[in-house]
Amino acid sequence: MDLALQAQIPVNRYRPSSPLRVTLQSIEQLTTPGGPNDVRHLVLRWQPGEFDWREGQSVGIVAPGLNAKGRPHPVRLFSIASARDGEDGDGTSLALTVKRFYWTNPDTGEVIPGLCSNYLCDAQAGDQMWMTGPVGREMVPLDWAAPMLLIATGTGIAPFRAFLQQRARLSPAERGQCLLVFGAQTADDLSYRAWMDDLCATDPQLQVVYARSREEKTADGRRMYVQDRLRDHGASAWSLLQDPRAEVYLCGLKGMEDGIDAALADIAAQQSGDWPELRQRLRDEHRLRIEVY
Ligand SMILES: Cc1cc2nc3c(=O)[nH]c(=O)nc-3n(C[C@H](O)[C@H](O)[C@H](O)COP(=O)(O)OP(=O)(O)OC[C@H]3O[C@@H](n4cnc5c(N)ncnc54)[C@H](O)[C@@H]3O)c2cc1C
Repeated sequence: MDLALQAQIPVNRYRPSSPLRVTLQSIEQLTTPGGPNDVRHLVLRWQPGEFDWREGQSVGIVAPGLNAKGRPHPVRLFSIASARDGEDGDGTSLALTVKRFYWTNPDTGEVIPGLCSNYLCDAQAGDQMWMTGPVGREMVPLDWAAPMLLIATGTGIAPFRAFLQQRARLSPAERGQCLLVFGAQTADDLSYRAWMDDLCATDPQLQVVYARSREEKTADGRRMYVQDRLRDHGASAWSLLQDPRAEVYLCGLKGMEDGIDAALADIAAQQSGDWPELRQRLRDEHRLRIEVY
């Protein structure tokens, strides 16, 4: 990773004090209505030239209204799910992948809808919204020819949708080998699966594999989590990581890092490799990128 190049990635063009007005072009539920999870694909639009970004960055959304102190609500971050050309190829729109979030008040036990995710999931096409950003440089790939191991849980797939869109816009010579391991509770939660499977059919260097923790079991009868599916593909993951340019990206649920770390240690042991040594090298060279929330 070239840190000087990374520092040039533009951030914070729009701050909470001066956000960009955007229009919700479309909203589509990715999960089956009435199911346990509600994940939506939103496309936001603005005027030409008002906003640009790189794959792996996020935007902030400001929910309307004021908080208990009479101030605007703090922004919530959402990964940009579109490559830099946007959803229509002209850089004036981007997609978000938003899960309707609920939390339980520890004092009362009351289940409370999360403010911003519910605002977004309830929005209607044509609604005007306030957006900030882009933010984040950590998850932005700079070398598309480098081999990539991508590991996602839940809405952690959002930045990787942007990665795969960008790969699809590059020539085969410009893009490296890519293994994406995507875990969710059920098949219904595997957002963008059909699209990714179609991409694999036309890109022999791309492999996408899935883990459905509530529907699949491991050989020893446990729930199949993303780290278990990674173990199944341990030989190819390990071989990809032997390239000195290889990059590893993790995105999704906080806490997923531990399971992935353990799986990579097991894989290394099977392949007669040294995961702690490789992990340190990946960290030192900024080739291990993690975004969990
Ligand atoms: C870099 C980054 C990228 C992200 N990308 C995505 C993405 O692509 N898709 C996605 O769906 N999410 C994403 N998130 C998560 C997202 O930013 C929000 O955290 C999530 O949507 C919940 O926000 P909310 O406003 O709905 O919930 P909130 O209302 O903010 O509730 C969240 C938590 O805040 C606390 N809280 C809220 N109100 C109170 C109160 N009155 N009293 C006490 N505690 C309270 C609770 O602990 C609760 O669990 C991302 C987060 C980060 C940091």
